[in-house]
Amino acid sequence: MLPFKLVYSEKYFLPIGEHVFRADKFRLIRERLLQQHAADESDFIVPDLASESDVTLVHSPHYVNKLMEGGLSAREELQMEIPYSPQVVDAFMLHTGGSILAAERALEDGVCMNIGGGFHHAFPDHGEGFCMINDFAVAIRVMQKRGKIRRAMTVDCDVHQGNGTAFIFGNSALKPNVLPSSSAPTLASVSGPGTSRANGADVFTISLHQEHNYPFVKPASSIDVNLPDGCGDTEYLAWLDNALSSGLRQFDPELICYVAGADPFSEDQLGGLNLTIEGLKQRDELVFRAARTRNIPVMTTYAGGYANHVEDTVTIHCNTVLAAAEVYRTATSDRPR
Ligand SMILES: [Zn+2]
Repeated sequence: MLPFKLVYSEKYFLPIGEHVFRADKFRLIRERLLQQHAADESDFIVPDLASESDVTLVHSPHYVNKLMEGGLSAREELQMEIPYSPQVVDAFMLHTGGSILAAERALEDGVCMNIGGGFHHAFPDHGEGFCMINDFAVAIRVMQKRGKIRRAMTVDCDVHQGNGTAFIFGNSALKPNVLPSSSAPTLASVSGPGTSRANGADVFTISLHQEHNYPFVKPASSIDVNLPDGCGDTEYLAWLDNALSSGLRQFDPELICYVAGADPFSEDQLGGLNLTIEGLKQRDELVFRAARTRNIPVMTTYAGGYANHVEDTVTIHCNTVLAAAEVYRTATSDRPR
């Protein structure tokens, strides 16, 4: 039995036909975890659909209406890069409910993983890049609305920049910090008990991504790490460590949303970085260790993963569960208080 819960529903499958986005990966991850006895049935919990009122904490009522009524234009559907159907909307609402549940359970148990979600390219008024609803942005706003947290941090390690998330939580009071850069500006401190929960400064966004890749317009995150093509394990892990240390020095989140994309993998069809499967597991461990040593609850979502062989995508995502289990199974007595 795992020391945390895995949020999953068989209805996470997105009926989008033959597509580079293998929407059956969620089921395959669950099956692999069970087959390898990395998890058992009792580790899984099933989410409810997010409500429209939850989703409109991030998305415009006009956009949500169009999703519910089937009112997207052909151009809007094209920009989404997946076919529209009411069933696809339901699946996204369920992934979003899953991220809300994962956030809740992370606050109770210290860590929780949504075996789905991570739709970081969804903006308040439109979807793009296979993303219809920004599930974890909604989860953060729901936790804030319920008074469970004031401040959150997103750590987005998908190979593509988290443009929707950066836009949603963007705040002109924050000077964006773009790395790698020899002249990167130092961020002003934005944390503190007086931080109000309605403005953008209550969510600190970190994105590590391939610079020369989609999205070509990248709204500023609090920290953007623009990685060069072909970046490998050692360099990547050093930048991640740097970004996490820098972010956590400046900001004191009560919840971390880790976006554990599998597409920085060297054999990804939509990525141009050069990480190995082992390097990606070390990446996961680095994030979980950073959260755990500081006693910050962490929820995980999966985002992209388009390896030539879907088995590799499944391995990378399963390894995220294994990495969390290794970090959170160690004795709690050494946790700083
Ligand atoms: Zn991606």
